[in-house]
Amino acid sequence: MGEWEMGKTDGWIWKETKDGIYTTKSAYSILQSGSSESSAPNDRVKMTATVWDIPAPQKAKVTAWRALRDRLLTCANLRKRNVMIDEVEMNCNACFESVEDLNHTLLRCPKASAIWDGISRWIGFQTARSQAVQDHYFAFSHLGKGKKSK
Ligand SMILES: [Zn+2]
Repeated sequence: MGEWEMGKTDGWIWKETKDGIYTTKSAYSILQSGSSESSAPNDRVKMTATVWDIPAPQKAKVTAWRALRDRLLTCANLRKRNVMIDEVEMNCNACFESVEDLNHTLLRCPKASAIWDGISRWIGFQTARSQAVQDHYFAFSHLGKGKKSK
């Protein structure tokens, strides 16, 4: 049933670097080139890569990147990963009206919607809100195009 090789340890090997050690630089490079073997379409990979150019704290950028790839730990995603969640607990903890999935949590929930309304008033740009996080990101990231300041 398999043998351990002398000097080998159990662990993960990052196939994108020569030494097998993960670096954020190598991951960024993959995202920029769109050459990842991930199942995401190439244009989506390119779109999510623009997150790293936003002048925001790294923690916020990582969260945005995960959101754009639907990798946040919402109840819906935990269920997909076979984490046992009671049907009742699947509902959003802010409004208790809908299943907590990515688009509900960040856009459709009345609590999130109120925040986006405030942001829209603040930047002076009112528009119909996208129902998908990726569309919303695309729309908001193009608001400042052609202006001197974003
Ligand atoms: Zn909600």
